[in-house]
Amino acid sequence: MKAIRRFTVRPALPERLSSLETLSGNLRWAWHLPTQELFSEISPDAWRDYQHDPVTLFGEISQQRIDELAADDDFVGRANALRDDLKRYLQEPRWYQGLEGDKPESIAYFSPEYGVAAALPQYSGGLGILAGDHLKSASDLGVPLIAVGLFYRAGYFSQSLSSDGWQQETYPVLDPDGLPLRVLRQPDSSPVVITLSLPDDRVLSARVWVAAVGRVTLLLLDTDIPENSDELSRVTDRLYGGAEEHRLRQELLLGIGGVRAIRAWAERAGVRPPEVFHTNEGHAGFLGLERIGDLIRGGLSFDEALQVVRAGTVFTTHTPVPAGIDRFSTDLVRRYFETDLLPGVAVDDILALGREPETAGGAFNMAVMGLRLGQRANGVSQLHGQVSRGMFSSLWPGFDADDVPITSITNGVHAPSWTAPELTALAEATWGSRDTVGADWTSPQLSTAALWETRNVMRAELVADARRRVARAWASQNPGGVTPSWLASILDPNILTIGFARRVPTYKRLTLMLHDTDRLKRLLTDPERPIQIVIAGKSHPADEEGKRLIQKVVEFASDPSVRERIVFLPDYDISMAQKLYPGTDIWLNNPLRPFEACGTSGMKAALNGALNLSILDGWWDEFFDGENGWAIPSAVTTDPVERDRLEANSMYELIEHQIAPLFYDRNENGEPERWLTHVRHTLATLSPQLSADRMVRQYVSELYLPAHSSQAELRFDGYRAARQLAEWKRRVAAAWSDVSIVHVESGGLDATPQVGDELRLRATVRLGSLSPDDVAVQVVYGQSKTGDEELHETRTRNLEVEQDERNGAEHDGSALEFVGSVKLRRPGGFGYSVRVVPKNNLLANAAELGLIHTAE
Ligand SMILES: *Cc1c(COP(=O)(O)O)cnc(C)c1O
Repeated sequence: MKAIRRFTVRPALPERLSSLETLSGNLRWAWHLPTQELFSEISPDAWRDYQHDPVTLFGEISQQRIDELAADDDFVGRANALRDDLKRYLQEPRWYQGLEGDKPESIAYFSPEYGVAAALPQYSGGLGILAGDHLKSASDLGVPLIAVGLFYRAGYFSQSLSSDGWQQETYPVLDPDGLPLRVLRQPDSSPVVITLSLPDDRVLSARVWVAAVGRVTLLLLDTDIPENSDELSRVTDRLYGGAEEHRLRQELLLGIGGVRAIRAWAERAGVRPPEVFHTNEGHAGFLGLERIGDLIRGGLSFDEALQVVRAGTVFTTHTPVPAGIDRFSTDLVRRYFETDLLPGVAVDDILALGREPETAGGAFNMAVMGLRLGQRANGVSQLHGQVSRGMFSSLWPGFDADDVPITSITNGVHAPSWTAPELTALAEATWGSRDTVGADWTSPQLSTAALWETRNVMRAELVADARRRVARAWASQNPGGVTPSWLASILDPNILTIGFARRVPTYKRLTLMLHDTDRLKRLLTDPERPIQIVIAGKSHPADEEGKRLIQKVVEFASDPSVRERIVFLPDYDISMAQKLYPGTDIWLNNPLRPFEACGTSGMKAALNGALNLSILDGWWDEFFDGENGWAIPSAVTTDPVERDRLEANSMYELIEHQIAPLFYDRNENGEPERWLTHVRHTLATLSPQLSADRMVRQYVSELYLPAHSSQAELRFDGYRAARQLAEWKRRVAAAWSDVSIVHVESGGLDATPQVGDELRLRATVRLGSLSPDDVAVQVVYGQSKTGDEELHETRTRNLEVEQDERNGAEHDGSALEFVGSVKLRRPGGFGYSVRVVPKNNLLANAAELGLIHTAE
């Protein structure tokens, strides 16, 4: 008989093993090697089979084994010591506690997905893994994040392949009782229930699961509860599934329900709710509306509330692909807000926040709303910041793309989660410290032999893991069949290994390597310098094109002449990734530039000593230095077929003529000394830069702390500054059309200006009803090239209002004179222009209001 419902009964561990409960109840074990080693001792096979999941592990071990462990003084002693270490970790002051000055007591972090551990599959790809790594580093650094997401009953799908290589999806149903989660409860121990009003007088209810990610609390909202109808209980059924209205409900729950969940949690925990909010991608953007509603109910106007919310909100955009941006029909959004969902907030004000500038009245755009609700915004690599400034520049009309207020903080990866235990052990054996990020890998203290030996073990681990996975996949495709013998000998632990794993949207070009299959075959089967390729990746279930790409790869990989050298591993996930990155010598990435916002898989590979072979996109554009790998040049052509041909050929050339020769160039001990020099260089120079600790520190100092002081200033004294700022913005916007630059005059240079000369400027500006304090009149200057009107590498400098009789104290709307000068500091083409922008020290950026007048 089939069960209609199943649940997990947690084992009652004896008192002597109670520390195991404490250790498994906090996900810190996911990046704490000694704790993992302890769990593994309980049952090494079960630990591996249950995807490193202690809760399931405890449910499966026999009473006899439990008794054995409880009687083992040594085991109990070590478990207790690890528990004490965890307690210390949770309480001791860390980096954040040592920061000087006023800082937030807590910071809210919102993401639609979280990849914290293989045991909690609440992620689909890069964004989720990044969010998981952000929480882990925040925990290690003591940054007081409170994180919010949704609890998807089906998590992300598992991938298998049909015998003709077509992706099959299954959605394993997760049982929260079998996961390291607890329910958020009222003091009377009934579960906290978050509610949202929906159209037609319906109500969506959600319970809140609480996970401990080290020092960080993660709240996950779950609608699968009896309070909801069947239809509404499915709102959190799965990640990125379902049609438009389903997505809208998920995002309303995440944003609005998320803020309500934080409030409930803060009340239970006895702490003040956060005032600084970080929202990842547009999906959680509705959180700003809930906070605006709250302030309006507290007596502020919409515009005043908006100032406060903006000041405390950080928005991170993660996609340079316009199709990747979340949009809803305006009518649908209107229907959801014409309810009691947000009492006091006018629907038209909400719709205006998501209105796209170029198609007014069109879709409701979540990224656009995100940028309007966040005073501070960033992209996730330098190149992506630049692309985003261009992509969203129509929100700041009149400004150059360079002035668009979107900065960048390059992503990072959490080193303790992604560094192979073998490499950590090597660091410990060499320097007596497990810190692989800070170690000097170039030092002769580390012998070539030891480094090579470790790299070989890591590659062999991947080969063993790949063989296990392929055999398992074959067995489930061919139930009862006899496993063909060649399956046991796929891949070779001594061959140059290229890894390639990713989600499969078109821009990632999964099949670029198949451009010239004959040439690829020759590379794979070269008698002296063969290569092998390990490929993995999931296609979005609705993406037929992506599935066809996977099928093409699988088809090629089944050719008997190459099938031992190129394999597709089904079901790419965290546990596979943790073997894959360390086991590869080369990490390949060939997206279409500039569509890879950052890309983190190559970073994870580099942390393990793999060299990157990549298009100069995302993080690689910033970090490729000629020693840490190879850059595939992006073709300059508009013909996509020609471009793929050129880029594929460059890739083959690099592999054949540079990479393989370097890898197979051995010294008398059989070690590739020159190759290892590059490995050492990569480990030593990239590890600190690519670490999520660096990223989180940057978020704290460049965005969270400034957001904290901005919002505190606006709140001070009954929101006095917020009221003033809203009024000032209204006044400046209304008066702006009367502002104009009448005339610009220059002087101070003779016919042949030289470096060191001073350019003097005088601008005549009409301000209408505004005063000189309301505006900045600026000279913008930089390099100018012949035949190009644009200025490059620009700087700005304020001109000062001239205090003479003509200006007087009482100005009357007639023109004012602004003067200043610029010193010429470099030879070559020089150009300048003059502009007027609003000025107020509560603005984070001159472009913030989107108002500008430029000299004609
Ligand atoms: C790192 C990682 C990703 C994201 O990789 P990108 O290079 O950023 O696309 C996706 N899935 C898993 C399992 C990962 O570990």
